[in-house]
Amino acid sequence: MTVNQLSATSTDPALQVSDLCVDVDTPAGRIRLLDGVSLSVRSGERLAVVGESGSGKSVMARSILRLDDSFHLSGSIKVDGTELVGLPERRMERLRGSKVGMVFQDPLGALNPLCTIGEQVTEPLRVRGVRRPEAERAAIAILGELGVAKAAQRMRAYPHEFSGGMRQRVVLAMALIAEPDLLIADEPTTALDVRVQEQVIDLLHEVSTERDLAVILITHDLGIVAGFAERVAVMYAGRKIQDDAVGRLFAEPAHPYARGLIEAVPRLDQKMQRLVGIPGVPPHPGARPSGCAYHPRCPHRMEQCEVEVPRENPLATGGLVACHLYPADRSAQ
Ligand code: SF4
Repeated sequence: MTVNQLSATSTDPALQVSDLCVDVDTPAGRIRLLDGVSLSVRSGERLAVVGESGSGKSVMARSILRLDDSFHLSGSIKVDGTELVGLPERRMERLRGSKVGMVFQDPLGALNPLCTIGEQVTEPLRVRGVRRPEAERAAIAILGELGVAKAAQRMRAYPHEFSGGMRQRVVLAMALIAEPDLLIADEPTTALDVRVQEQVIDLLHEVSTERDLAVILITHDLGIVAGFAERVAVMYAGRKIQDDAVGRLFAEPAHPYARGLIEAVPRLDQKMQRLVGIPGVPPHPGARPSGCAYHPRCPHRMEQCEVEVPRENPLATGGLVACHLYPADRSAQ
């Protein structure tokens, strides 16, 4: 059975994550990195996952592709209807690249300095048995599509001969050459200067639209989210605390943490104002506060917040929020 035959139905979302928990064993015992996260992304949709360091956003990305053997997963991760939790590693290997592509933060680290660009971009096809001439034609086409000039000649170059922005285009070509349905980009612009950051984000937007590709952009930088994503999932301390349309989240952030993140972003469309940071630091995964993990930093905390984990409830304006200020019976009215 081929990977594509593993798909369930064409109406399945590109990705459906349900109640995903991720634990890891440490010398101090087992700790929970991700706690009951659910989200879905449909074909062609661009979802940004945001949050401070340690919020669990990269753990989620790596768990979807099952990149860490040390992670213990429970819950469900379905890609085009195929359940990945518990899927044998041999089948996961076939699925990586062909169904889900991934772009990492550091393009230089993702490339082998001893192999040519051509060898590396063709590899995802070669390991699937595609003949070299055909794989090279596809590599030249995708590099050209992603803005690498004189792609045929540059196939013989090595990574050190490329600029940071060009290297990220090569990594993107490697992720896209086998035509996945879902692309996960984990902080893809962190190592790049501002001008190149913009080009890479524009390129991701373009490939998502042209290929009807579902894209998850993992970032701590809300500044790049507004022009890219349709929806935003906000993570805090291993949980998803708000999931909303990008316009609504920026205009009316419901969760106090989401509000804090947005108030800390400089706005070019408003007069000079003082930026307000969020007091305190995110908790260590092994020492998360009881109840709502945000309560020690939250200006709206109530007694209930210290003991009871808030459930995700629908907001009256659309979207979902996990906060006791929005109980189920009030939030959706
Ligand atoms: Fe603040 Fe309570 Fe809402 Fe948590 S549940 S964000 S502590 S108001």
